[in-house]
Formats: sequence, structure tokens, C-alpha cells
Amino acid sequence: MSDRAIPYLIVATDYATTCSGTCPTCVLTKIERLRSYPATTAEKIIEGLQAAGAHYGRVGTLAVGIGRANVLDLPEESVGEIGRIVAGAATSFDHDELIVEVSTSLVGKIDRQIARAKAIMEASGQWGCDVRFVIVTNTALHSEKYWKNVDTFYAALADMRGGAGSEDSGDIIQLALSLDSLPDPRELAERIAEYRSPVNLTWAPAFDRGVSGDESLARLEAWIAEWYRLTSGDDMDSSLVYRIRQNLPMMESGMPEAVAHAAESSRAVVYVGTDGSWHNGLFTVLAEIDPARFDPSAPADRVAGTGPRDLRRFLTNPACASCEYSSACIASGSHRIGMITLRQFPEGTESCPSGLRAAFASASRERNSSAGRLSHGHA
Ligand code: SF4
Repeated sequence: MSDRAIPYLIVATDYATTCSGTCPTCVLTKIERLRSYPATTAEKIIEGLQAAGAHYGRVGTLAVGIGRANVLDLPEESVGEIGRIVAGAATSFDHDELIVEVSTSLVGKIDRQIARAKAIMEASGQWGCDVRFVIVTNTALHSEKYWKNVDTFYAALADMRGGAGSEDSGDIIQLALSLDSLPDPRELAERIAEYRSPVNLTWAPAFDRGVSGDESLARLEAWIAEWYRLTSGDDMDSSLVYRIRQNLPMMESGMPEAVAHAAESSRAVVYVGTDGSWHNGLFTVLAEIDPARFDPSAPADRVAGTGPRDLRRFLTNPACASCEYSSACIASGSHRIGMITLRQFPEGTESCPSGLRAAFASASRERNSSAGRLSHGHA
């Protein structure tokens, strides 16, 4: 492991690991969901932070995630514990800037969670960092009541930060997809646009009961491509659009370069477990993935990765063998989602197992048409 400098490091901690929600693709166990207190102590998390910090050199921006699931529904003492974790992260990593990202599903009493968010923001003045909230939303729920909680939370945060006209907060909306209940993408995009927040997509194939046959993957691919089109056209702060555009030029690169790119981006994601252990995560064009959670059927030494055996299996899958975006897919880490999906398809798939092929194609068309416009302008 290298200790060379890194411009941006995400360190996600498994501190809370509880939520009483019902997302169909939740990676928590039933016991974890029923708990109303943190899964571990600040001291255990700090142990992991110190161990990981020893493997990193200078960090530009250190983004410490306080997760997983719903941190805002924990007892009041959690605010002090989070403060200790933040202080532990600050001393474990040599960094220029510190950001804290607190995960919440907003499931539970909303007033209590707003009060907890306020307490965390007030305390962060002493922690010496900015706080953002990562709001994990259940896209399977279409009811107004559900989204009203999100609206109420956003309105309260805007007040805390100086009113609705204050600068964008950086709070992040994370949309958890499930194949049996994909929402209407246009309706969802219109709703999300009102929050003026960066938006991420997540998909957990190992936990999605809607994965059944090629047809289900084709539906996902069409949905993600439509989401790409809508969020790219509306100029939303969409991580899918940003990361696909950033990685698309890699489609012209060779496989070794793509693999090296993916390996380096995984170095920028660290997960600290409840037992104080740590490991690198998987960077993808959807959200980052914790292999220990999202790829549970894989033995520890067979996590979806970039080793020759893994890549052979991936690149001989019928859909991937004929895919012109395979280098960009691997460079962006997206093939890892595909590899987790392929564990359920021993014969392989004709449809894209990561759901991203059509979105890559849209980005490619965008790039070609803007190159066409430019060359026309110079003619
Ligand atoms: S985009 Fe889809 S089909 Fe193409 S290489 Fe990646 S997982 Fe395979």
C-alpha cells in the first residue's frame, strides 16, 4: 500500500448502521434495522481511522462519512460521539480540508431528526469543518407523505443556513433504485431539481429481488439512460453525468490503462467497519460501493476487482464482449457493479449487467455532436 499524496479521499464509517426504513434493496440485516442505537463506539471507529491513516500520505480534501443508513435517528449522545470520530479522523490523516457527510434516510419522526441535524451543525463550528447531509431516498415510495418529510427537512436546513436564497449547501440526495419499483424518471427529476442538490444513484444488484433475467437488466439500462438524458439536459448536478463524461475518453484507451485507472480510484475510497477494521471500497459511476456489504456472496479474496481472472470472466460475458464502452466501463469502476450482477447469471447476459451501457452511449453521442458543432464553427 502506498502512502503517496491523494487529492480527495472518502472515508466512510460504519458507525450508526441502523434505519427503520423499508427500502427494497437495503443492505442492512433485520437485526441492524431494529436497533435504535449505534452499531459500534467512536473508539472502535477511531481505531480503524488510525490504521487506515497510516497508509496514506498528504490528503487534499478529506471527506469523512458518518454512516451508514440513518444517523439522525440515533439517541442524543450520538452528537458527542460523532464529534469524537471527526476529531479522530482529523488527527489520523494529514489533510488540507475536512468535510463531514452525515447519512440519513429521514425515516422516523422528522422533528426529532431536524433537531439532531441542528445539533450536529451547531457542534460542527467547534469541529472546524463543513457538514453536509446525505439523504438516502427510497425511490420505491411515490407517496406525497414520504416526500413531504424530505421537503420539511430541506426547508429546515435552508433556514439554518440562512434562508432559501442562501448558497447551495452541498447536501446530497442519494437515490436507491430497485428493479421492481423504478419510479417515473421525469417526475423524479422534476422533484429532485427543486432541492438544488447534487444527486447520486445507487443500485445493489446482490440485494435486488427484481433481478430476474435479461429483461430486468434491459429495463434498468433504459431507466438509467433516461435519467442521464434528463439530468444532463437540465444541467443538474448529477454524479452519473459527471462521472460518465469524465471517464468516456477512456473508451479509446487500452485495457491496462483502464485497469490502472480503476485501481487508483479505489484507493480514494476507504471503509471503516464496526469492528475497527478497514478496507478500500469500489469506485463506480454510481455511488461508491463497500464490497463487504454489496458483494456478500464473494469470498474476501474474490471481491469484484481488476485481477486477470475477474476481467476474463467479465470480458467474456456476451454483452460486455461486444460493448464498445468496455474500457470506459472498467476505468470508471462500473464493471464492478456488472460483476456483482453476473454472480446471478452463470451463463452470462445479453443485456448490460451494470445498467450503464446506454448512458455511456448517450454521453458518446453528446460528445460527438459537440465535437461536430466545434469543427463546424472552425470551418
Ligand atoms: S457498459 Fe455494460 S455491457 Fe458495457 S462493458 Fe460495462 S457492464 Fe459490460
